[in-house]
Amino acid sequence: MVLISLRRLIVIPFIVLMLFAGGIMYYFSTVTVSNVADGVGLHYIKEVENRVYDRVVDFIAPLNDIVEINRKAFSFRPNQLNDLSNVAGRFYEQAVPYTYMSFISFAAERDGKYIASVRDPFGQTDHHLTSNYLTKPFSLEGFEYDPRQYFGEKITSAPPYDGYDPRKRPFYTDAVKQGDAVWSDVAPYYGYKTLGVGLSAPVYDQQGNLLGVTATSVALIELDKFLKSIELGDNSYAFLAEENGDLIATSKSGELYRTEDGVTTRVSLKTHESKAFQIASKQLVMGAHTLDVDGEHYLYHVHAIALPHGKKWLIGVLIPQSYYYRLLTEYSNSILLITLGLFISIALIGSLIAHHIGKPIRALNNAAKDSKFESITRLPNPLSPIREIDSLSQGLRVMAHDLSDIMQNLEKKVAQRTSDLKYENEHLLEQSNQDELTGLYNRRGFNVGFDRALLTAQQQSRSIAFVICDIDHFKRVNDLFGHTVGDQALQVVADVLKSQVRQHDIVARYGGEEFALVMVGMSQEEILSRLNKVRQAFLERPVCENHHITMSFGIAYRNNSASHAPQTLITEADEKLYQAKNTGRDKIVA
Ligand code: GH3
Ligand code: MG
Ligand code: MG
Repeated sequence: MVLISLRRLIVIPFIVLMLFAGGIMYYFSTVTVSNVADGVGLHYIKEVENRVYDRVVDFIAPLNDIVEINRKAFSFRPNQLNDLSNVAGRFYEQAVPYTYMSFISFAAERDGKYIASVRDPFGQTDHHLTSNYLTKPFSLEGFEYDPRQYFGEKITSAPPYDGYDPRKRPFYTDAVKQGDAVWSDVAPYYGYKTLGVGLSAPVYDQQGNLLGVTATSVALIELDKFLKSIELGDNSYAFLAEENGDLIATSKSGELYRTEDGVTTRVSLKTHESKAFQIASKQLVMGAHTLDVDGEHYLYHVHAIALPHGKKWLIGVLIPQSYYYRLLTEYSNSILLITLGLFISIALIGSLIAHHIGKPIRALNNAAKDSKFESITRLPNPLSPIREIDSLSQGLRVMAHDLSDIMQNLEKKVAQRTSDLKYENEHLLEQSNQDELTGLYNRRGFNVGFDRALLTAQQQSRSIAFVICDIDHFKRVNDLFGHTVGDQALQVVADVLKSQVRQHDIVARYGGEEFALVMVGMSQEEILSRLNKVRQAFLERPVCENHHITMSFGIAYRNNSASHAPQTLITEADEKLYQAKNTGRDKIVA
């Protein structure tokens, strides 16, 4: 079976999943981007259009509201028009909330008297009232507003507008002709760098008699500022235009009207310096279009704004396809990155968990492999913050402790048994080297001792003597006194022989009633003397009922440090014993 580490078991599936999910997401994001991009672009355009639409409607609405209110007010109470100072304050106050409301006016049909609230759209002069009848007939002058007197102090006097008859002005004649509210042309304001537009309406009394015309007018600079304030992407444009393409406001810089040789002309989409507007002018049709501007593809949408009294303006927005493609790609890429980041984080956390699980398990494993219980008991306690692993380590710790006790007991028992066996072995060895009857060395013990003595003699260059002795006519002892006495006789011989040799000399029962002696470093005379003492001792110690035994001796003696084979000494001594037996017994042959 293939073994796999815990870390790989966790990390590898997440990396595989990450690559798989990343691949799928990448594929779908590319497909999705190309599928939905134009839809998203259009949605973006409509968002812009809606903002412009709301602003334009909000901006224009007060013109109509104020015109309608004044129209009705004058119609129901025509007496207030007898002295236009009665309505001057009303106009002034109506304009207060709207900084862009440049004119709110009334012109009387009866005598051409004209009164207006005037606001500078750029705020450079004070909001004031003007008329054509107060100081000089038919001259326009301004007055600072005073709510108690309506006119207050005069603030402008020049230029004079002698002969100004509003009843001949287009705002008046158009309204009367129309018999209803009517829009003025969008046109540059005299004296101000802005376009403006006005709405005027005829005022009739309840009997249907024409009382005059009331009008309002706004500076359109405000709308142009608004379009320029919209944060469009790079190379994206928006415009507000009349139905014929004449521009009212744009998001791009550039003039909205030009004055050449005293003649002022409006700038239209077609005549605007922007190439994109020039191309857009060819498709000033409601709906979505695509344009190609200098090789760049644009999504272009035109939307109409219906203003009161049949006025229609157009909003156009152009955005390059590359812009929203990039936005979408960036968006899908960031989602892709977040997803990949998520998978990597999960894999890292998994790796960390695997490390925390794997490390203590490896430590346990190493300690167990060490075959030493201390390696386990010496592990940190607690081994791991993970409960299951720590409980495994506690279990092993207890097991190691118990096994250690068992091992110690076993070792003690084995040591005791070994020492017992050693003692018994030594005892057995002793027994196997000893003759049971006499307590002397038996033949085996003799062999061992003889080899050792030969080596000692050689090493120390000392003499060695091998003596073999045999009880004479021993059979008779058995025959005469029985086997038990024969055994006692053998014990006596053993005692005598032992008493006549040195501590370290070898005395052995060589077989039946034959005994052997080995003496190292003893002179031949000394040996003979000692053997004779043995013979003497037999004379002094009867074995039974005054029965004395005698022994015959054969001696092989070597006085040099040469190496001697034991067998040659044995053969020689044997021959000499044989000689002693054959020549009358009870003698020593050296
Ligand atoms: P010789 O050596 O002088 O020629 O005569 P012998 O009688 O000693 O001759 P032999 O060596 O043939 O006989 C030895 C006898 O010793 C035979 C046997 O019964 C006896 N014998 C050997 N071992 C023992 C023993 O352990 N106990 C007793 N009681 N007798 C033994
Ligand atoms: Mg014998
Ligand atoms: Mg004998």
